[in-house]
Amino acid sequence: MNTVVVGGGVIGLATAWRALRHGVTVTVIDPAPATKASHASAGMLPPSSEQIDGVNDLLRLCLASRDLYPSFAAELEEFAPTGFRRDGVLDAAFDEDALRKLDHQQSFRESLGIRSERLTPEECAKLQPAFAPTLGGLLGPDDGAVDPRILSAALLTAIEALGGTVIRRQAIRVAHHTVTLDNGDAVPFDRVVLAAGCWTHHIGGLPEDAIPEIRPVKGQILRLHSEPPLLGVTARALSKGASLYLVPRLDGELVIGATYEDRGYDETVTADGAGDLLARAAEVIPGVGALRFAEISAGLRPASPDELPLIGPTAVPDVYLATGHFRMGVQLAPITADAMAAYLTDTTPHTSALPFTPLRLGRAA
Ligand code: FAD
Repeated sequence: MNTVVVGGGVIGLATAWRALRHGVTVTVIDPAPATKASHASAGMLPPSSEQIDGVNDLLRLCLASRDLYPSFAAELEEFAPTGFRRDGVLDAAFDEDALRKLDHQQSFRESLGIRSERLTPEECAKLQPAFAPTLGGLLGPDDGAVDPRILSAALLTAIEALGGTVIRRQAIRVAHHTVTLDNGDAVPFDRVVLAAGCWTHHIGGLPEDAIPEIRPVKGQILRLHSEPPLLGVTARALSKGASLYLVPRLDGELVIGATYEDRGYDETVTADGAGDLLARAAEVIPGVGALRFAEISAGLRPASPDELPLIGPTAVPDVYLATGHFRMGVQLAPITADAMAAYLTDTTPHTSALPFTPLRLGRAA
């Protein structure tokens, strides 16, 4: 089976790699692989958060992906480092409202058998000395983070090592088992996976309404640097009804994110975006202003019409979707890739992925 994957973000690349592992012939088409949402992403991996309330299909998908991450990363590390770490994520409460949320999260996680440890303010201070005083914390010792830039580079290395082809061009049209590129070249396929993030529905040639609209949700994110690293462990700082992501890397990078903005395809970074993130970070880490500024970037999260991932076949024969992962694409890459590899080899995907078939959207897919 000759499969073409259109889009080389973390979702398209992970899909391509897993499909190659299953013996599928794969070509990835992307003018600039891993430079969009996946490049901006923080790479937080905790499966339960304030965004998932109650046991539902999305939580089951997140838990399945969390279970897969260690073996996914270990297998990929045969080719290159992945930047995966599973050394805990701390939710820290900076006000009473946040503390109540932690109570709720703790009983929710316990009901699911997810390990979590309640920390006193003193224990939080010991674990994260750079933090301002907290009212307490909740540590997920089995949670972690990955550096999406290192992960994407590893996926590209693995794809090429396994004989996959990467064509650095834009796909313009998909019709008659052929992808037409922006230079006019035609790439034939038996099956095609459209994984072009929030640009997926812009690809031409398919019947009208075949691909649902994928809405871009802009996120700005800050990268600072210090030696040694200012934070010991990945954290979410909960205060004033919001949560700020703080992801330390071993090389001293500190990722601070992110904003949520509905601004269409605008990818500009703004002084307001940087100022907002820095001000929120300074409230919880008093010394953050002294860190070396490294980067501010913006990415567009791909949101499907029901804001849930689209993984599997469409109503158009041999056309598949792997997109719509919104805020969780890095976290959901392993389960998405495994499910897509199953579809592409005519085997049954993991049950957690079945509710995310694009066919759930009816005519629109
Ligand atoms: P993208 O990474 O956007 O990739 C799409 C690719 O398609 C691009 O490479 C593009 O060049 C290509 N493309 C587009 N059009 C065409 C075409 N016509 N032909 C060929 N190629 C095309 N998720 C988490 O799990 N944890 C986090 O902590 C997290 N933090 C985030 C922070 C920010 C600021 C942002 C913006 C996102 C964050 N996310 C996080 C979400 C995550 O980044 C996305 O869900 C994920 O990256 C989506 O991956 P993707 O491959 O679908 O899309």
